Amino acid sequence: MINLESVGLAARVLIALGVMIGPTLLFLGLYRALEWLRDDRLLEEVARREGRTDVNSLAPTFGGFVAGATGSKSRSSLIRCGHCGAPTLADSPCLECGKSP
Ligand SMILES: [Zn+2]
Repeated sequence: MINLESVGLAARVLIALGVMIGPTLLFLGLYRALEWLRDDRLLEEVARREGRTDVNSLAPTFGGFVAGATGSKSRSSLIRCGHCGAPTLADSPCLECGKSP
């Protein structure tokens, strides 16, 4: 004889497993779909035009989004404002006081 409490508990466990595993499977599916959609010939052509041999070197880096995150070139352009002392870019007005450093 089946106990009704154990049926309810089993249903709750199945729902909890679906809630936990479902988003993971959806994310992995999206990742695989994006890999499938990737145009390898286009990436190779862009890498050839930029003189790079490795297609993986075209991957975006953190320094491309945040100034001063990587590279000595972007770090050297960061100076201290002579008027207010706030760190600012050398080739633009101060971000704090608006005066040219
Ligand atoms: Zn300033």
